[in-house]
Amino acid sequence: MTYSALALLKNALTGNRNWKPMWREPEPRAFYDTVVVGGGGHGLATAYYLAKEHGVTDVAVVEKGYLGSGNVGRNTTIIRSNYMMPDNTRFYEWSLKLWEGLEQDINYNAMVSQRGVLNLAHSDAQRDAYARRGNAMRIAGVDAELLDRSAIRELVPLLDLDTARFPVKAGLLQRRGGTVRHDAVAWGYARAADKRGVDLIQNCEVVGIRVDNGRVTGVETTRGFIGARRVALAAAGNSSRVAAMAGLRLPLESHVLQAFVSEGIKPVLDQVVTFGAGHFYVSQSDKGGLVFGGDIDGYASYAQRGSLGVVEHVMEEGLALFPAFSRLRFLRQWGGVMDMSMDGSPIIDLTPISGLFLNCGWCYGGFKATPASGWCFAWTIAKGEPHALNSGFRLDRFTSGGVIDEKGAGAQANLH
Ligand SMILES: Cc1cc2nc3c(=O)[nH]c(=O)nc-3n(C[C@H](O)[C@H](O)[C@H](O)COP(=O)(O)OP(=O)(O)OC[C@H]3O[C@@H](n4cnc5c(N)ncnc54)[C@H](O)[C@@H]3O)c2cc1C
Repeated sequence: MTYSALALLKNALTGNRNWKPMWREPEPRAFYDTVVVGGGGHGLATAYYLAKEHGVTDVAVVEKGYLGSGNVGRNTTIIRSNYMMPDNTRFYEWSLKLWEGLEQDINYNAMVSQRGVLNLAHSDAQRDAYARRGNAMRIAGVDAELLDRSAIRELVPLLDLDTARFPVKAGLLQRRGGTVRHDAVAWGYARAADKRGVDLIQNCEVVGIRVDNGRVTGVETTRGFIGARRVALAAAGNSSRVAAMAGLRLPLESHVLQAFVSEGIKPVLDQVVTFGAGHFYVSQSDKGGLVFGGDIDGYASYAQRGSLGVVEHVMEEGLALFPAFSRLRFLRQWGGVMDMSMDGSPIIDLTPISGLFLNCGWCYGGFKATPASGWCFAWTIAKGEPHALNSGFRLDRFTSGGVIDEKGAGAQANLH
């Protein structure tokens, strides 16, 4: 059913008894053209664009839990395209453009809010680095503004600019960045993919990948074997475990990242603000809670919860920026498992196994990538080769040395 103001009125007048379920609950069939492993944002978007852009509708998305139970429903909802390396700038800008038209495209209110993302600089060197990044963005046609202290004061009056331990020197603002309601993205893509004929199979864990003579033939699942001509992995934090089922060892580590939500308060923060002297970012949700987070826990783990040391760091960094928040109570906290690549950039590629495709390495920034990731992965699966937008996100760049070093940490992150 199509959502509209008219549908809302009609259903309100008939006691809201005629709303249809958002998607079907089909039994898995014996064979599909394409099986997508992982019903997170990327897997669902991939299935949607396979159907919409390439007419491939004989598709199943196989999810071990419920749709959206992974990182797509656990992140801090920030979208932006303020990257410096050309491969990333192009790709994330395409993603932002897709976000801008997404709600009309999938007929679903994902609460896309382009409220602006402000990165704060706390030293002269950092201000120079942000100026350089902003220039690179503008040359690539992406919006960026370097703000001085007075412009920042006007934009975010609650910030402690004067007495802070890490004084604010400048800020890089991307006004088109912002937030999107994360669960709605999973639900919207799921509904839109189902509408085009994709089977969404929940509570169905992939426990093996069958390969015959170097060619994938299907997946073993907790609900039986499902044959497939093509298998596309989009298992985010569990990518290494799933790829290992096909004998692949990925250049990834899985780490926990935590998120926090405070009690709801009146509107006090209109933008997403990030702290440059550590790792802290915050925005205010439409319900009034402050949604914030920091760095990964720093040890490899598959647990969807984090440790207290990071809670303390995040609170300290937040209060260094916004002392007024010290009187707030924080209500909720959770963790998600990140698929950290060594250069901070993702992988969307074919694999050495014919018919097996790979989408992973999203680190803590894959939510904003959801539309472009699904779009490019669908292209790569349908055409059997990467699109120009993901042509740099190859698996072999870690052996060839062609890393996309967004963090400036060099090819061997463990040396820094
Ligand atoms: C706390 C936190 C904050 C974040 N903040 C941001 C942010 O503000 N902005 C941003 O851009 N990114 C952010 N991220 C990162 C972002 O959420 C992820 O990079 C992105 O969601 C990963 O893609 P996905 O949505 O497909 O992952 P997921 O939703 O995790 O999807 C993968 C799915 O695969 C399923 N799966 C795994 N193994 C199997 C199996 N064997 N069989 C079947 N299914 C399987 C999982 O159950 C899961 O549902 C954050 C992440 C966290 C945890």
